[in-house]
Amino acid sequence: MNLIITNTCNRACPYCFARSRVNLSDTQTGPTTQHISLDNYEKYLRFLESSKISLLKLLGGEPTLHPEFLEIVSRAHQRGFETLVFTNGLWPRGIQDAIRSVPTAEWKLKFLFNVNEPNLQTTAQLAHAKESMRIAGLQGSCGFNIYREEFDLQFIPDLIDETGLDRGLRLGLASPIVGTVNSFLDGKSFKAIGMRLVEQLSKLEKRNVLGSFDCGFPLCMFAEESLGKLVLNSRGFQSVCSYPIDVGTDLTAWPCFPLSDCENVRILNFQNEAELRAHYTSRLSGIRRMGIYEECLTCKFIERGQCCGGCVARTIKDWAAKGDADIIGKLGWTASRDA
Ligand code: SF4
Ligand code: SF4
Repeated sequence: MNLIITNTCNRACPYCFARSRVNLSDTQTGPTTQHISLDNYEKYLRFLESSKISLLKLLGGEPTLHPEFLEIVSRAHQRGFETLVFTNGLWPRGIQDAIRSVPTAEWKLKFLFNVNEPNLQTTAQLAHAKESMRIAGLQGSCGFNIYREEFDLQFIPDLIDETGLDRGLRLGLASPIVGTVNSFLDGKSFKAIGMRLVEQLSKLEKRNVLGSFDCGFPLCMFAEESLGKLVLNSRGFQSVCSYPIDVGTDLTAWPCFPLSDCENVRILNFQNEAELRAHYTSRLSGIRRMGIYEECLTCKFIERGQCCGGCVARTIKDWAAKGDADIIGKLGWTASRDA
């Protein structure tokens, strides 16, 4: 589970999967600023404790923009949680100074930096993010979202060498958001992206950087003969669509950001995470079997659980594009306004 502690962000990535819920730096009309209250935060920590979950994952927007970010991570440490912060690295200067004096390893406080290719940010932004990465050192690692065919990962080893981050790289595929416009990849380009990715990971491995895979990668985007290379040059390949469950500042949950307008429920109506997850498993099970291509319907890999069939948000978006605009209503899911 991920907790969104603030909906404000100081960057505006074109692929942002949180776009419908977050106030990005490029919009004047996004939702109003919301930071989680310490009262709701305490309720969430108790929910994790009742669920016997010891890893707290903090998301935004940019989590370090929460005015009480330090209090939030300090409370987590005092309660015995490990904490993982998903960040863009543009930490306020006061947070950079404060985190410098936090024993992050002892606090089990880690950071996953979402990095973009250098040309997508200004020199000043890049320098600022690098400073945060240096502060995190081995407690930090980076993640990259592929949102166009001509991506290039070869700046990453230099970034790691310069800042001292861990040598892992988490890879994501930009997903469409149901009900919102963002930049995402056409399913037709997946095979070309798969080839490029295999080639890029081989180069990264030579510099001792190993990739790992986020959700939504279809198995058939990789040629059969390149799967061995993919495994050897990464920390293992997996094709999964396992809803992380995101929780908003008001403790309303949704399966994942691309499905943030689908099946919104209040977490406090459930005893623990297992009960909440069982709810999502049963409510979303039918659509999971569909897959993003027509071939998925008869594919042995989805049948045997070797492929997730790609991102469910893409399947729904495709249906809507084919004229089934009220797909959410037909699936009988709870829209956010009804939660
Ligand atoms: S629908 Fe599945 S693959 Fe797509 S973002 Fe959500 S969890 Fe990941
Ligand atoms: S289930 Fe669909 S996405 Fe997965 S390998 Fe089969 S055809 Fe490809």
